Amino acid sequence: MNESMKTLGENRSEIRELFEYGKELSKKGLCICDLTLGNPTAKTPDWVTETLKAGLALPHIHDYSSIQGSYIARKKMANSLSKYGVAFSAENIILTCGAASSLCAVFKALTNNEKDEIIALSPYFPEYKVYVEGVNAKFKTVGFYGDDFSPNLSQLEEKINENTRAIIINSPNNPSGKVFSKEQIGLIAEILKKKSTTYNNPIYIVSDEPYREIVFDKEKAVSIASIYPDTIICYSFSKSLSIPGERIGYIALPDRICAINDLYVALLGSLRTMGYVCAPSVFQYLLENYKEEFSDFSIYESNKNTLLSCLKKLGFTCNNPQGAFYLMVKAPNGNSKEFSEKAKKIGLLIVPADSFGAEGWLRIATCVSKETVALACSLFEKLV
Ligand code: PLP
Repeated sequence: MNESMKTLGENRSEIRELFEYGKELSKKGLCICDLTLGNPTAKTPDWVTETLKAGLALPHIHDYSSIQGSYIARKKMANSLSKYGVAFSAENIILTCGAASSLCAVFKALTNNEKDEIIALSPYFPEYKVYVEGVNAKFKTVGFYGDDFSPNLSQLEEKINENTRAIIINSPNNPSGKVFSKEQIGLIAEILKKKSTTYNNPIYIVSDEPYREIVFDKEKAVSIASIYPDTIICYSFSKSLSIPGERIGYIALPDRICAINDLYVALLGSLRTMGYVCAPSVFQYLLENYKEEFSDFSIYESNKNTLLSCLKKLGFTCNNPQGAFYLMVKAPNGNSKEFSEKAKKIGLLIVPADSFGAEGWLRIATCVSKETVALACSLFEKLV
């Protein structure tokens, strides 16, 4: 048996651990305020449900497709991405089973062995470590400063070496809801360009974008691919259409990316070895009929505002998210695990963010109902 796989299987993530605990208590009829999981609660748009219903009635709808998926759907995705001012072609897009499989395929395609390194900016989605180590590459992280989680760029510069293959940027960010500014992306791009020249090897940005559309101030949204040419986009419809259990997304390579032909076939090869035969056919049909109409995200912003004002009144230090559906709060005594345990005792479930690379912070998922937010506020007050 593979011991490291056994360990992974036995140890659920902290998020899942708390979520399962909450479910058990709810079954016993106890009142639980669960702010753990990033399950989008905004309604799935009607066009999605109607298109899927129509698709299900078609002959051959459940057939296999090519690994890269429907050309018509990829063409739609390429057209939709070109609004960012960068050229994308259907030929350089692969439909996938969500961002998770996109990321795994990208990490596998870019690395050869444990010497090759992928860097994540803290705070980061903890599964990145699992995905990178799962393809036997080395996972490294870079710290942040301030309560707005600005990336420590001098640390980034120091940590890049001849083995660095890519850095992951996730904006809007899980767990912080941070949206990276144009200036920050520009500075990162400068560092990567310089280091790529020094080491005579492209250092890619893996832009993990499942929250791309959930930006509260649309003026602040930044397309990383428009700033840095060697950007690989990993996208998922899980959050934008509220369909996380359905597993549909894509990998998009801008036409101008370095080593595009090798990269594209390496991605197809990676998906093969991982057993991702093709993206679900019914959802490929959905993308063939794609409309830029997303779930209504306003609940995430209003929940964030309510929680922020309640937490601030109670004296907590929080960040001010500009997108996604998470909020970070600092443990009053700096011990996030202890604070999470204390909260758990009164039925309030919040995840310590140490495993996200943000020691002393906790992540609050704001993708819940208004009633849950009201309950959360009263429980935080009780905690204080
Ligand atoms: N990346 C980030 C930052 C996420 O938060 C998630 C899921 O929550 C994923 C990737 C995986 O997305 P999906 O479930 O759509 O594959």
